[in-house]
Amino acid sequence: MSRYLISLLLWLPALAAAAVQPPVIHHELRVEADPDTAMLRVTDELLPSDRKETLEFLLHENLEPRLLSPGGRLVRGERVKAAVPARRWRLELDDPGAPIRLAYTGRIHHPPEAGALHATPGTVSAEGIQLSASTLWYPWIPGHLVTFRLHLSLPDGWHGISQGKPSDNDRSWEEAQPQDDIYLVAGPYHRYEKRFGKLRAMVWLRQPDEALAQRYLEATGSYVDLYSRLVGPYPYAKFALVENFWESGYGMPSFTLLGPTVIRLPFILHSSYPHEILHNWWGNSVYVDYDSGNWSEGLTSYLADHLLRERRGGGAAYRRDVLLKYANWVKGGNDTPLVRFRGRHGEASQAAGYGRMLMFMHMLRLELGDEAFVEGLRHFYRENRFRITGFDDLRTAFEAASGRKLGVLFDQWTQRTGAPALVLEAVKVEAGEHGYRLTGSLRQTQEEAPFRLRAPLYVQLEKEPEPRLHWLTLEGRRLEFELVLEKRPLRLRLDPLFDLFRRLAPAEIPSSLGALFAAEQIHVILPGSAPGPRRDAYRTLAEAWKRRYPQVRILTDSELDRLPKEGAVWVLGLENRFAGQVWQPLGKERVRLSDETVVLAGNRHPLEGTSLVVTRRATVPLGLLVLGDAKRAASLARRLPHYGKYSYLLFDAEGKNRAKGQWPAGGGALEVVLDPSAPAMTVPDHPPLARLAR
Ligand SMILES: [Zn+2]
Repeated sequence: MSRYLISLLLWLPALAAAAVQPPVIHHELRVEADPDTAMLRVTDELLPSDRKETLEFLLHENLEPRLLSPGGRLVRGERVKAAVPARRWRLELDDPGAPIRLAYTGRIHHPPEAGALHATPGTVSAEGIQLSASTLWYPWIPGHLVTFRLHLSLPDGWHGISQGKPSDNDRSWEEAQPQDDIYLVAGPYHRYEKRFGKLRAMVWLRQPDEALAQRYLEATGSYVDLYSRLVGPYPYAKFALVENFWESGYGMPSFTLLGPTVIRLPFILHSSYPHEILHNWWGNSVYVDYDSGNWSEGLTSYLADHLLRERRGGGAAYRRDVLLKYANWVKGGNDTPLVRFRGRHGEASQAAGYGRMLMFMHMLRLELGDEAFVEGLRHFYRENRFRITGFDDLRTAFEAASGRKLGVLFDQWTQRTGAPALVLEAVKVEAGEHGYRLTGSLRQTQEEAPFRLRAPLYVQLEKEPEPRLHWLTLEGRRLEFELVLEKRPLRLRLDPLFDLFRRLAPAEIPSSLGALFAAEQIHVILPGSAPGPRRDAYRTLAEAWKRRYPQVRILTDSELDRLPKEGAVWVLGLENRFAGQVWQPLGKERVRLSDETVVLAGNRHPLEGTSLVVTRRATVPLGLLVLGDAKRAASLARRLPHYGKYSYLLFDAEGKNRAKGQWPAGGGALEVVLDPSAPAMTVPDHPPLARLAR
């Protein structure tokens, strides 16, 4: 989930360069909103910290401002292209120290657009109100941060929510620390609150639901506590979960706005929700200088999504999925360096922008050690709260905490695109008088220039329970290494815990639905001989995919002599003459299909009513999809792209997911087996970072 509507904010000129911190302007806003007519009536008393004779601002075009205070003039400027129709205004003041009072009234109505990505730059409607800087509902002055007090006049039964702390029965909100936006969300809400020390945890729901509210209040208390101990004190008086009136996942300073379905998904409470809470440290109090690249999404993902998975023992698996997404989606020149990453706008930019930064933070942690890494985060937070920051500020903080120069590392991972691809070569063992001499070479095979890397090589020795770790420092394209070992080496594996940002070796990549959806060309092959209604169901599904992925080409099995040799191939239906070519080579231990049952990854399921997906990597990615029920076509078409990392899936007659998983993958060119009778290597993951929360 993302910072609130970044794509819309990017219409506006950047706030300020990272080095020079912007002046702050205070707004004393009195707001009256009429949801039935979408009318907004506002008076604003402005108090700029840098008193100047002229002040330029942008305002929504429907809001025609009047100057109420004496001793100045408002000059109407040109129309401006922004997320809403807007106009530039210039305020000329006789006495720059005198109070400035403006009043404006107008209709703000931009209902959320239908479609997969609902969004509005701001609206006043009977369903609810949502206003932000994108709406230009208050005089937006380029290059300023803001503080504010907001006095609300809303219909009976409505509540308004903003940053900071409420008073007067939530009819006013106040934030005295510099903000980069003023949000106003309002609607017919039910309010819940619980105090955890100084923190006010709040939940605002559109329908009463005590149990749901309690779960969120408790989670708020526990995650705010975790991150306060790990990073530094929570920067706001409250944190609120606010139910939106359409499906969204936005994180604003001191609250999050989640859609009605999202809120009720049980896993959100411990995945997206802590992510949004952590944004109060990264992005919503230490602000991002988007012009120099967005560091906040990757860092937040590392310390929320990754940290929580790592705490449950899933760190390496999580990192592998990050690399898998990069391998699937980033290719053919669609990579973005971090200094040019602003926000997610699709799978490729997410894999590059979130994935690379997350892995960079992980590599930095391993390089500096957990204590210095966490100290660097604390330093960064302490020194930069309510300031606009870039990668240089982050580097400075880690340098201060570690006493090391990190310019080379930061340049490499923030300014470059691409990723190293690694192979282990020419590995040999010689037995000698005092033990064993192991030699070999590690090479970077990517087209781009070599990366500077510290690569973890694990060596399993005879009669030792765990492999030994040797760090190999790679400065150029190739490194010849030599290890002297007292016991006989059995196996070698480079980076088995996925600690490096790199291109996975082909053998490390299990086949997945994601690889099929990410292909430049997707052939979807219908079963010509299936009975009418089933054939229609498969066609419905194929056409739904074609609307989502323009690279889909729909064919029928009878038109083809053999499977296409380019792109990716979805074979639909067990009746399809190519079905066997997808599942049979996977082997009986993975999948076995008979007339009545399917045995998938060792578990037997009835075939009746069951929908099934299996994938395989041949010359091109292959997938077989079997619909158990024609009625499931539309819903599966929508759901399957969300299961991108899986190799196989099984849904029961009710459409419930009953099995999902990845086929086991090997190490390929990163693994060397010196003794084939040696057992598989088990590498324990790093001790979790969360243990350093004090
Ligand atoms: Zn985020």
